[in-house]
Amino acid sequence: MNSLKEKMQEWYVQGKYILTPKGDYSITSSYNALMGGQDKMENASLIWSKFAQPKHRLIAWLATKKRMLTKERLGQMRITVTDMACCLCDDQAIETSQHLFGNCPWIQGIRRSLLQWTDTQLHAGEPKLVFDSIRRKHWQKLKKEVMAAIWGATIYHIWTAKNKKLFQNGNVQVDTIVTQIKKEIKERISMIKLSNRGSMSRGFIQRLLCN
Ligand SMILES: [Zn+2]
Repeated sequence: MNSLKEKMQEWYVQGKYILTPKGDYSITSSYNALMGGQDKMENASLIWSKFAQPKHRLIAWLATKKRMLTKERLGQMRITVTDMACCLCDDQAIETSQHLFGNCPWIQGIRRSLLQWTDTQLHAGEPKLVFDSIRRKHWQKLKKEVMAAIWGATIYHIWTAKNKKLFQNGNVQVDTIVTQIKKEIKERISMIKLSNRGSMSRGFIQRLLCN
């Protein structure tokens, strides 16, 4: 409680409230400051959008918080892992979140196909950085939500493919994942009635549905 009081005291400088431009008190800006800033709130609303399947949202959310049990994280938790290398590629790279969702050569085919499908460019790297880059794009909200849903689905399918390889020694083909992601996203888009606010993204949506 004391740390909360100290934090709130920082918001008043010379009798003015510093979290809004005019110095007026705002519940929203106080809440955002307590939650750790506007950025986190916006990533959350992108990840938990109606375009994303619930199972994808959860994995994507955990991945942005670096809560996925990668081999690196298991090692940090002092859980014995006999082989720390990524099982999806032949690089012998340690299975970190950065590698698995960003640099792994095996996932590049998935990325390429999805970026071609959506005709977009996206930052490659840690799950959170990719959501950050989507958030900062000058796109309509609807396009950001769909791109975030595609990225969330990608994280989910990479994770599932990795587990299948690791625990069942089963191979998943890149093409199968791409087809599955496209199918899931198209189903979701078709379920949602697009309002007028989505009209500027109509060309983008049409491209996704037709390819
Ligand atoms: Zn790899």
